[in-house]
Parts: sequence; structure tokens; C-alpha cells
Amino acid sequence: MPILGIESTAHTASVGIVADGAKVLGLASDMYRPPSGGIHPREAANHHVELFPGLVTQALDQAGVRPEELEAVAFSQGPGLGPCLRAGATVARTLALLWNKPLVPVNHCVAHVEIARVLSGLDDPLLLYASGGNTQVIAYARGRYRVLGETLDIGIGNFLDKLWIELGGTFPGGPALEREAQTGSELFDLPYSVHGMDVAFSGMLTAALALHGRGVARPDLAYSVEVTAYAMLTEITERALAHRRRDAVVLGGGVACNERLRGMVRTMAEERGGTMFAPPRAMCVDNGAMIAWTGRLAFDAGLAVPIEASAIQPRQRTDLVPTPWRGS
Ligand code: AMP
Ligand code: MG
Repeated sequence: MPILGIESTAHTASVGIVADGAKVLGLASDMYRPPSGGIHPREAANHHVELFPGLVTQALDQAGVRPEELEAVAFSQGPGLGPCLRAGATVARTLALLWNKPLVPVNHCVAHVEIARVLSGLDDPLLLYASGGNTQVIAYARGRYRVLGETLDIGIGNFLDKLWIELGGTFPGGPALEREAQTGSELFDLPYSVHGMDVAFSGMLTAALALHGRGVARPDLAYSVEVTAYAMLTEITERALAHRRRDAVVLGGGVACNERLRGMVRTMAEERGGTMFAPPRAMCVDNGAMIAWTGRLAFDAGLAVPIEASAIQPRQRTDLVPTPWRGS
């Protein structure tokens, strides 16, 4: 039976309905776009509260599924922005009570891995998770998904968004910078900040803004930022592949929509004799389908919880979440 998944960790409110084998029957999403500046968590949460009822109806209609035909309701428990998570969790609890369905909490980062894993057909790939708030290299080992490397300051997407907004643009900055970079050609020096399997971006933000102040054209700036930042991500992914003796990598997160990043990671993986898989864009960005699919795995492993035990976990760590469906 299908499972309904609710996603609301940050700017995107999304409802997905997924059948066995990760077949997406319905998916309705809406992204909060602040008129200026970055995301204000409470305003994003208000957006989600307003939109969720319509998105639930839309996803059910698209799927041609009645509530009584659902097996469970899954939701993103964390990590994420508190007010946004609370909005989604409240909707999920309400639906579970109303329809008398089990409630299944899901870790958002694990959901990115699981949807990429099932869509790729790869059994045990490493994940480069590059999104707004998160930048992590994740691999499964001994009962948990482990974070092998991550950003030491801001997420790659937040870095791109901040830069674009400082350059006079609006959120989201990643896709706009990608378009801008297409006509750039001159590579300017920017801080390349890799520490083992970790990365940092705030130095690059300061340096890029300084270059902008010195009159470097936006296309060249965007090009230099993309090349440098994505090379950093490619390097830590390669190091993780080598250390974990893996040959397959999958991508997740909104920044994984980027063609340059996809190309660089693909080249690296193929040069090592391995493979790279990037899910379709709708499955890279935050979406309710990945929550529903991971909810399926968790539900089958007996991880449904009573309402009292369904509190949100804004700082939930990927490696603290049990994943019994992966074995021990
Ligand atoms: P997520 O948090 O996973 O939903 O992803 C949102 C982030 O992805 C935002 O920071 C966007 O700027 C970024 N993003 C979306 N599309 C692209 C793209 N084509 N290139 C780079 N970044 C992108
Ligand atoms: Mg995400």
C-alpha cells in the first residue's frame, strides 16, 4: 500500500505519495521564496501552514489514492529549521489521527540517500549531499549512515544564495549563478578550503565579494566560484570513496541539480573506474516522495511511533538514526 510523506525542513513544503518499489504516484510541492534576503524560518513556516492542506489534496488527487488506501503517514523529523519542521510534523500528526494511520518519523538526510539509492539501483553507494543547509559526504557502515566529511561552516547552497543576494539577486542563488557562470571564462583565485574530508565556504564568500568590489564581472565571478567550490566537493568525495573502498557515488540536495557539479563528480568517479548517479532534479531537491519512500523502509522495519514520541529534532544527526532495514 502507498505511504504519504510530508517534507518541511526548510523552504519547501512538499507532499509525496509513493507505492512499493519507490513508484511516485503523486508529488505536490511549493517553495517559499522570500521577496528579498534569506529565509526567515517563521515566514517559511507560515507559508507551509497555508499551503499544506492544498498540497495534500493535490498529491492525493494526482495519485488517485483515497486516504483509507494509505498504509502510513511519514514526515521529516529533522534536521531542519524548527518552525518549518513543526509545521510539517503537525500536519502529519493531524492526518495520522484523522485517518487512523501509523506515523513514521524520517531523517531528512537519510531520505536523500535512500531515494538516490533506490533510483540508482546501486546497493551501497556513497552520497554527496549538497543542499542549502547541508553539505555532507555520507556512507553506510555498521548499522548507521556515517558522515565522513561535511562543511565546517555554512552549507554550499547557503553560500551560493548569500553570494547571489549580496550581488543584488534574490533567493535561490544557485540556479542564477549557474546561468551566470555559463558565460564566464576567467578563473580568479579564491580560497580553496579543504580539511581532510571537510570543507569551509565562508572565506570564499568574503573573497568573492572582495573580487566583486574590485570590479570582477559577475559571469567570471560565478564561474570562479563554481569551479572552486565544486572542485572542493569533488575532492572530498574522492577521498571518501578511496578511504571507504567504494566505487559508486550518488548525488542529493538542491545543489546536485548543478550541471557543472554533476559533470565534475562524474568525471572523477569514472576516472577511478566507478560510477556516478544523479537523480532527476525533482528527486534531488527537498521533496515528500523521498520521505514517503524512506517512511516505507522505516515502517517495514517497525519504526512507527505514537504521537507522543513524534517530537521534531531540528539538530538530528544522520549518524544517530537507526536504519535497521540496512542490516547491522
Ligand atoms: P535544498 O536545500 O536541497 O532544497 O536545495 C536548495 C539549494 O539548492 C539552494 O541553496 C539553491 O540555491 C541550490 N540550488 C538549486 N539549484 C541549483 C543549481 N542548479 N546550481 C546550484 N545550486 C542550486
Ligand atoms: Mg535537503
